[in-house]
Amino acid sequence: MSKSRYIDTHCHLFEREFESDIDDVVKKIESAGVEYVLVANTGYDSLIPLLNFEKKYPHICRSLIGIHPDNVDKDYKSQIKFIEDNLVNHNFIGIGEIGLDYYEATQDHEIQQKFLIEELLIARESHLPVSVHIRDAFDDALAVLEKCQNGNLSGVIHCFSGNAEQARRCLDLGFSLGVGGIVTFKKSTLPEVLKSVPLEKIVIETDSPCLAPVPFRGKRNDSSFLPLIVDKLAEIYECSHEEVADVTTWNAKNIFKLK
Ligand SMILES: [Zn+2]
Repeated sequence: MSKSRYIDTHCHLFEREFESDIDDVVKKIESAGVEYVLVANTGYDSLIPLLNFEKKYPHICRSLIGIHPDNVDKDYKSQIKFIEDNLVNHNFIGIGEIGLDYYEATQDHEIQQKFLIEELLIARESHLPVSVHIRDAFDDALAVLEKCQNGNLSGVIHCFSGNAEQARRCLDLGFSLGVGGIVTFKKSTLPEVLKSVPLEKIVIETDSPCLAPVPFRGKRNDSSFLPLIVDKLAEIYECSHEEVADVTTWNAKNIFKLK
């Protein structure tokens, strides 16, 4: 019987939390059946650790470049240039992570929105999919995405945790939903929401080192926990673990053009 394969569509395995034992973590991830981990950049400082991680594990790692909304500068023009310059110099498979975060709100909402628009325009022009972070900013983020969608934008609303109506709006825009550890949390409303979302629109992710699924909630997360998310999805969609793994892997390969 063939073992299931998984793709972690959004994680940060280059973070300091993994510094001391990353070789062991990658071994564990590989033996869990993970085919690819897509690592998302978050700021200026994370790019070198990200590229080092990719260089060390080229068989399993693919990278996205973007700036997390928590790290947006008032003068975001130089951050746009940072993304554009690095896109020329390196083979990134997507733009991320980008988005709006009003929960932390380290930056003005309006500046976050303007920056997001510019990042989406880069994605459009370079024909790259996006990985979008939305926290406490759903309506504004959707308004920006709707404004920028000209048929050339595609990608994932990462770590989706909205309601059924918000899910529908994301799908209408042509986006897929990234589902991670939150779906396994006891009080999560996501299992109910997902009943209105076809499995063909779902990809899986960890957002590691954060958001570990039950029974590891609160612990350091890594991509070897993906099967726990797949177990939960198999329960929600009333199908086999293998079917969820196959469909979500196919979806991820299709969105991020992975071989
Ligand atoms: Zn993230």
